[in-house]
Amino acid sequence: MLIGAHVSTAGGLVEAHRRGVERGCDAIQVFNQSPRMWRPTRWKPDDVAEFLELMKDGPIDSVTIHAVYLINPATKDPEMRRKSADSLIHALRMGDEIRADGVVIHPGSTVGEPHAEALARAGEMFEHALAESDSCRLLLENTAGAGNTLGRSFRELRELLDLAGGHKRIGICLDSCHMLASGFDIRTADKLTEVLDSCGKLVGMRRVRCLHMNDSQAPLGSNRDRHAPPGDGELGPRGCGAFLSEPRFEKLPVLFEGPGVEGKAPAKVDIDRMRELRANGLRSRKRRG
Ligand SMILES: [Zn+2]
Ligand SMILES: [Zn+2]
Repeated sequence: MLIGAHVSTAGGLVEAHRRGVERGCDAIQVFNQSPRMWRPTRWKPDDVAEFLELMKDGPIDSVTIHAVYLINPATKDPEMRRKSADSLIHALRMGDEIRADGVVIHPGSTVGEPHAEALARAGEMFEHALAESDSCRLLLENTAGAGNTLGRSFRELRELLDLAGGHKRIGICLDSCHMLASGFDIRTADKLTEVLDSCGKLVGMRRVRCLHMNDSQAPLGSNRDRHAPPGDGELGPRGCGAFLSEPRFEKLPVLFEGPGVEGKAPAKVDIDRMRELRANGLRSRKRRG
């Protein structure tokens, strides 16, 4: 398991890498541009070159990009569609450039439009964006299930993958907080096993390429997306320990997005906590045989 966190790219990618190392990360996630603005930014070529050089020697083995929040792949509005597609393609191309393990995106919202048509529009945009980029994976993140958001169940994620042509570069990112909020009880290792069996059947575990480890302030099935530091929320030390020691997650990056125990971006203390929770999780799995 590659334990890590979302880090700021203020000052560039080399700075982001430094922040990851400083916090003891094996993996990092970054925004490719300001997440609440459409304006695309580009990393400087020498910054990218130095970043790629740094990535060769560890300790950071994985970088993931999180796409802009404004993107709605399911939108019907032509202007919004064009902006969303451009921004998603840009993120995937940036992912190609920095050899990211994937671009994570929220699958979108129906904005009150009929569900099936919204899903189809999202699938079409994903397929188009993949065709316009080379190698970086596109990872649909499961949502907390608020309002009209898409991607709250494995069945719906499966549908989206199919509507995107089942492309080999499309997969999913499972967020522990969003899972709990959307009604998946993953608070013990046994319950997590059951949920992942269902994920395996409906989506296929091979499609799961990235994890977000956030604890949840809001209770099971609340459909509210309120992150808590690992171990401090409704998942608690036991739920987080189970998630962080899950055998089927072993080779994946698992990223904490914050806010951390200090109330700000993830810090070293949060990463240390994740490692401790994982160790406890592994111990209790061993005890139970
Ligand atoms: Zn997330
Ligand atoms: Zn969230």
